[in-house]
Amino acid sequence: MELVVSEEPLVERWQEFLKKYYWDEILKLSNAYPEERSLYVSFFDVIKGATELESLLLEEPDVVLRNAREALRRMDLPTGVSLEDAHVRIVGLPEAHRPRIRDIRSHHIGKLISVEGIVLKVTEVRPKVVSAAFECQQCRHVTFVPQEGRGFVEPAECEGCHRKTLRLVPEKSKFVDAQKMRLQEPPEELRGGEMPQILDVNLEDDIAGVATPGDRVVVTGILRSYQRRTQHGKSPFFDVYLDAISVEREEKEFEEIEISEEDERKILELKSDPNIYEKLIRSIAPSIYGYEEVKEAILLQLFSGIPKELPDGTRIRGDIHVLLVGDPGIAKSQLLSYAVKLAPRGIYAGAKGATAAGLTATAVKDEFGDGRWALEAGVLVLADKGIAAIDEMDKMDKKDRDALHEAMEQQTISIAKAGITATLKARCAILGAANPKYGRFDRYEPLAEQINLPPTLLSRFDLIFTLMDRPEEEADVNLASHILRTHYAGELLATSGGDVKEVRMIEPEIPPSLLRKYIAYARRRVFPVMSREAMQMFLDFYVGLRRQGYGEDAPIPVTARQLEALIRLGEACARARLSNVVTAEDAERVIRLVNYCLRRVFVDPETGKLDVDWVAVGTSKSRRDRAKMIKEIIKELEEEAGGGAVPLEEVLDVAESRGIERAKAEEVIESLKRDGIIYSPKHGYIGIVR
Ligand code: ADP
Ligand code: MG
Repeated sequence: MELVVSEEPLVERWQEFLKKYYWDEILKLSNAYPEERSLYVSFFDVIKGATELESLLLEEPDVVLRNAREALRRMDLPTGVSLEDAHVRIVGLPEAHRPRIRDIRSHHIGKLISVEGIVLKVTEVRPKVVSAAFECQQCRHVTFVPQEGRGFVEPAECEGCHRKTLRLVPEKSKFVDAQKMRLQEPPEELRGGEMPQILDVNLEDDIAGVATPGDRVVVTGILRSYQRRTQHGKSPFFDVYLDAISVEREEKEFEEIEISEEDERKILELKSDPNIYEKLIRSIAPSIYGYEEVKEAILLQLFSGIPKELPDGTRIRGDIHVLLVGDPGIAKSQLLSYAVKLAPRGIYAGAKGATAAGLTATAVKDEFGDGRWALEAGVLVLADKGIAAIDEMDKMDKKDRDALHEAMEQQTISIAKAGITATLKARCAILGAANPKYGRFDRYEPLAEQINLPPTLLSRFDLIFTLMDRPEEEADVNLASHILRTHYAGELLATSGGDVKEVRMIEPEIPPSLLRKYIAYARRRVFPVMSREAMQMFLDFYVGLRRQGYGEDAPIPVTARQLEALIRLGEACARARLSNVVTAEDAERVIRLVNYCLRRVFVDPETGKLDVDWVAVGTSKSRRDRAKMIKEIIKELEEEAGGGAVPLEEVLDVAESRGIERAKAEEVIESLKRDGIIYSPKHGYIGIVR
């Protein structure tokens, strides 16, 4: 780096500044030295106390920091310690010098900047040579070669005898701990499906190894560039990375969303609306027809229950997990992406996740780490303190499925591979969607079997919705006209951009920008407590559910997880009203919602009884039910006939011979037809849909 000023005055200026503003800290450091080696200097103090260093520090950070370090080294301390290897680490750059990763440009090269992001990936901390010692095999002279660039520099010949008999001697070389980190833009700063961009960061000495994947950090450092290489040799294009000066960890949640006084006034105005709860539900995905209950669940998920730390150290999650299972083409993916847009911190992911790390986390050895292992965060870690929408969950890897168990209850992800052991935080609510394995949802098969998710995982969802696409005249007309209206409004909007009646009809009652603020406000400020009535209602409902399973040989219908779900949902419900009390009314709403899901998921269609085992384990006796037998009979007959539909009468005959009354068999066939499991190509013929 070329010098623009004589350096000596700078060192003196730093000494003055440090003595005046940082004397106590320096003394503290000297007591902890050499275990601690960093003096953190706030840029704000530099502005205040040493104005002339301010712009020079931004423009020529290498020179200025070298001098700062020299000033620290020369400091004459009463403790008698010499801070030979200590660093001056700058923190807190002003806004103008904090570009978003995507806004980093060539004029930033060589300058001091701060970059905010989520840690996506870190390598192991490994020694890096900073001064390599080469010993001549002939004359034993040792040549020291400083290693500052990206490549390893080797001298051509011995300094002493000019022969080429040099050998690297690690014992005489000087090393520093080094780590490479990859930062990704935080999800809440991305607009409308933008791909997050990344920046690599080099960390050395005591700031290596402090951050783990999923952490939110602000890294202050000097932007460097290096020339790209292609197979044709050097390229005119350069890549950039950041040489870190300091790393600050951030522990903020919904702070990203700023709420002005004007916003607060609007929020409190909404609060006083007696129909606020219904209004909130109607503001979720108004372009999607129906699904009031699903929208209510998503709403509660956005507000979340209260996470609890108990005195015995147990942590109970407040996050509400919701699963949508159902036929294809019924707006599951749409609902997911809507939820992500509303969530102050939401990530949408397919089953495979966006990165090699998948949903959870992984240890990899690739070119990023230059031979070192690197730990990479997946979606659930990146969505910490937000919502992770996972589409097509049925297509998940086994590795992810296993890790999801831990992620959903303990809200951590542990990894132990290749000597890397780490526990990463994954405190997020999961909104999952899954398609049934055989294309269509079949009420007569246990849920767990149909969607390729193990019962243990299913039981961790607070609410499971099973959505079926059943042809029904009235609903079809309503849905179709809703979709037509929506598209029509969209067309009008595209041509006139206008304020027309049709457009206003599909506008959410509460605009998304205000709703996000409302949610952030509630999550920051409102921590409701259950009222006596609510507690009693939850108790009664839960015991009532359990009772249905009492009696001879009955499967246990409901587990304690459902009770916890009720509590969380109740808290979220109160929060949605910005109330500090979970009232009887909240309890009633939540019970209605839970009941709605239980009815569809847990009711054995054969017996009409609630049965968790029917979903989960699939051992319920009525699994050997008529529906299954009928399907088998049809299949057999189809095979005999060499494919295609078979006569209904024949099916009924065979069924009768196997002990199913004709009337019952016909009933089952009708319901299988409604569910789209079997079809009838012409009168009196049926076949299995494939
Ligand atoms: P899935 O993920 O369930 O397979 P998608 O979310 O991809 O389904 O939805 C398919 C299309 O059908 C989308 O364009 C969606 O908007 C539309 N659609 C389906 N059901 C509805 C509905 N109830 N209201 C509005 N649009 C719907
Ligand atoms: Mg989909």
